[in-house]
Amino acid sequence: MTAVALIVECPRDPGVETALRCSRCETPICPKCLIQSPVGARCKSCARVMKSPIYTLGTAQLVKGGLAASLGGIAIGAAWIGLTLALPLGGFFSIFVGAGLAWVFTKIMDFATGLKRGPIVVALAIAGIAIAWGMQFLVFDPRIAWSGVLAVGVGAYLAYQNLR
Ligand SMILES: [Zn+2]
Ligand SMILES: [Zn+2]
Repeated sequence: MTAVALIVECPRDPGVETALRCSRCETPICPKCLIQSPVGARCKSCARVMKSPIYTLGTAQLVKGGLAASLGGIAIGAAWIGLTLALPLGGFFSIFVGAGLAWVFTKIMDFATGLKRGPIVVALAIAGIAIAWGMQFLVFDPRIAWSGVLAVGVGAYLAYQNLR
C-alpha cells in the first residue's frame, strides 16, 4: 500500500480529501471535522463517546481509585514476592504473571471506580502494577527484580486493553 492510497474523501465533508484518521475508530477525518482530544485527533462520534459518563471520574472515584491502586499494588506486590520465592521461573511464565496482574488490577479498578474506563483508569491500574513490581526491588537482588519487567509490560498492555 502506498501513502497515496491512504488519501480518501472525508465521509462527513464530500469533496474534502484527507489522510488523517480518528485515533480511536480509524474513520477518515479532515481538518474541518476533527476534534482535538487529549489522546489525539478524533471524529465527532468518538469525541462524544469520550465525554460520556463512563470516562468521567468524580473526586470520590479518583480518591478511591488512587487508594485501591496503592493498596492493591502493595497486596499484589506481597503476593508476587511469595510467587517469586516459590517459583523462580521468569521467562515464558512472565506472560502468565502479566495476565494475572492485568486481571487483578482490572477487577480492582472496576470495583473502586464503578466500572469506569479511560486514560485515568488505565494510568491508575498501571501505577498499581508498578507499585507491585517496585516491591520486588525491596526484597530481591535487582537482577531478579528486573526480570519482572516482561510481566509488567504484558500486564500494563492488557490492563490498557481492558480499561481504555
Ligand atoms: Zn472515531
Ligand atoms: Zn471532514
